[in-house]
Amino acid sequence: MRSSDDHPAIEIYSIGTELLNGQIQDTNSFWLAQQITALGGYVRRICIIDDDMQEMTSVLRNACDRGTRVVITTGGLGPTPDDMTAEAVARILGVSTVVDESLVARFMENRDIARREDVNAGLLKMATVPEGAKAHPNPAGVAPCVETQIGETTVFSLPGPPREVKALYGQSVKGPIGELCSGERVGLRVVVNLPESQCGPLLHNVMEECPNTYLKAFVALSERTADGQRLPVDIVAWAQGEAEAKALLQQALSLFESQAAEKGSEVEVLAEKETADSSGTLI
Ligand code: ATP
Repeated sequence: MRSSDDHPAIEIYSIGTELLNGQIQDTNSFWLAQQITALGGYVRRICIIDDDMQEMTSVLRNACDRGTRVVITTGGLGPTPDDMTAEAVARILGVSTVVDESLVARFMENRDIARREDVNAGLLKMATVPEGAKAHPNPAGVAPCVETQIGETTVFSLPGPPREVKALYGQSVKGPIGELCSGERVGLRVVVNLPESQCGPLLHNVMEECPNTYLKAFVALSERTADGQRLPVDIVAWAQGEAEAKALLQQALSLFESQAAEKGSEVEVLAEKETADSSGTLI
């Protein structure tokens, strides 16, 4: 898929040293990519960046400079000194950071804090956002989703914990992304009895013949059998309307079937699907 008016580019950045050194696996971007793709969105780039101000500002500035319509970041909104996302976004915007008093009031109410001066530094840090930003309160934690506009790019900065990412995405990010993306996406999984080396060129041919389709063989999920092998292949098609997308999917399937037949393999249709998780399980 390429960026277009119907499919503006969306980029996802996971922030945290612990992700780069292998202590924690980045599941946030994987989950967000699935959600966005299911809405018909185009995820152009996923990247992990260090808790480093210079790195964060340069990488995120570049994302905005190349016309990305939506940037989603996760991580770095907590109370500790290595949490620098709000400050990095403020620097890119060229504005100061300010304490959002409506967030402070909410924290006080949730924690039964009577006096403003009793709000600790950690809570104040999590209420600190770039000037002009919109803070969406967190239904599953403390740090908010911080929404800013950097040129043409809307930046949603979310905290790191996956449970909070899911809650805030549903509450504050899904809606705007759904409004940006139009069209329908349909897909199915098939199994073919061909080695990857023979299957690959067929997938390429079908994608060339049928624009707006994506075919992918999952070699790691293939099984050896007495008759050869069972190689799973996903076929995905997208179009403005569901009927059009289904017709395109059917066209791609037929073309793939006829090409596989020339190589001596039948194509077995397994299931209609939207996306598969990391183990290839249909979800
Ligand atoms: P907190 O208020 O918890 O400090 P934060 O926005 O500062 O929130 P981080 O400190 O970066 O977030 O991450 C908090 C926790 O969330 C991490 O310890 C990690 O367990 C988890 N986490 C962060 N980023 C990711 C990610 N990309 N994928 C999966 N888990 C993550």
